[in-house]
Amino acid sequence: MVNKFPLPVKSNAFQDLQLDPSFLKIPQDKYEDIVETAWSRGQIEGQKFIDRYGRNCNFQEILHDSGILVKELDKDYTLGETRYFCEYISGKKEIHLYKKSIEIWAEKNLLPYDVSKNYILSHEYFHYLEWTVLGLTSKLYMVPMIEIGKLKIGKTGIRAMSEIAANAFVNTVFRLEENDNEF
Ligand SMILES: [Zn+2]
Repeated sequence: MVNKFPLPVKSNAFQDLQLDPSFLKIPQDKYEDIVETAWSRGQIEGQKFIDRYGRNCNFQEILHDSGILVKELDKDYTLGETRYFCEYISGKKEIHLYKKSIEIWAEKNLLPYDVSKNYILSHEYFHYLEWTVLGLTSKLYMVPMIEIGKLKIGKTGIRAMSEIAANAFVNTVFRLEENDNEF
């Protein structure tokens, strides 16, 4: 089946974890647990969100009402192979959207710009929740910052967990349960 939903779904989550800079420090028997913990957190928050706002919401308005300024910058932001669509500037209560990046992505997925922007803002909204009320999902599993043989120094979280949870949030808010079999 073709994956019609243009954003990462649960079957992409392990791949996200593999790309984490700390992936090699995670014991193999924890992979599944980490993915499930992150995914279910995003799902739970997504369900809470639907209960409160319903499914067809305008995330720009919701962010605005939450005191977050959404700035659209006329820019295609790429670093190496990665294209960035937006950034949550936690200290400044701002979200920067890279308009040209989103336009390219929207065109590729045959989606209107506004729909694409709303998807991307919903992902950022989850990060906003993490910074303000939930705490960072990445901190739910810690690995040593530096490992030299048996010596372990410092602790760091798994950033991919925040991304997996944000993707789960978006899936829960926008994908209808009855369509799940199509993916
Ligand atoms: Zn993210």
